[in-house]
Amino acid sequence: MDLIILGSGSPLPDANRAGPSSLVRAGGKDYLFDCGRGVLMRGAAVGMPAQGLAALLVTHMHSDHTTDYNDVITTRWISSLQENPLTVYGPKGFRDFTDATLAMLKNDISYRIAHHADLNAPPKVIVREVERGVILEADGVRILAAPTDHSPVHPTIGYRIEHDGKAIAIAGDTIPCPGLDEICAGADIYVQTVIRGDFIARAPIQRLRDVHDYHSTVEQAGQTAAKAGVKGLVLNHMVPAPPPGTEGQWIEQARAHFKGEIHVAQDLFKLSL
Ligand SMILES: [Zn+2]
Ligand SMILES: [Zn+2]
Repeated sequence: MDLIILGSGSPLPDANRAGPSSLVRAGGKDYLFDCGRGVLMRGAAVGMPAQGLAALLVTHMHSDHTTDYNDVITTRWISSLQENPLTVYGPKGFRDFTDATLAMLKNDISYRIAHHADLNAPPKVIVREVERGVILEADGVRILAAPTDHSPVHPTIGYRIEHDGKAIAIAGDTIPCPGLDEICAGADIYVQTVIRGDFIARAPIQRLRDVHDYHSTVEQAGQTAAKAGVKGLVLNHMVPAPPPGTEGQWIEQARAHFKGEIHVAQDLFKLSL
């Protein structure tokens, strides 16, 4: 099983970091988690075409995690020579979100259907709204979901992917909570959105300081990792993004609580299990 962080960024535009999205390759299939800014550009770098995705799994409907949902839908649709529905797992409300996205695309859809004789139907998206428990079992891959806490964003979901005796937890944006402990328990890799609490607390703008209360700090990610007994921790979606050469400070903060492997993600960062 491979984990590839396609986009390691946050809502803040960054020349080197695409928006949040992660790819898990397991059982010969591609499972995409979130679809932030630039997801298909980064996917192109690792041979992940939209039309080949086994499923898209969305943690929550914050814009940075869903900016390019429309691109995944459209590109899969126009690149597939036969009907190729996209299966998407997401929190309650994701069906409405999908209907709204398809409504936004209606002009483009009509142009393409008018132009291509062999394109007769709009893109098909199968939405499965999920909350907790096993949500998918196929090709020796099992995916579980659990509710996380990113309040006031409700609902939010973390995912756990199991294959061949290994497990990866994709936490998304959340503070420590029981659902997070559930998906992380004994995992080989735990991927967590983190903020630098020490920097954010000193930010000169209240709107930036606001991000503190609904994200895990680096220390909290280390604490969750230790509590769950994971083998490795991947710090991701960092706010503020660490300038090159300063990643060690982030590792040190997590290391105070967690003795396993610690990685600071960048785009196309890859771990093979
Ligand atoms: Zn969020
Ligand atoms: Zn986010």
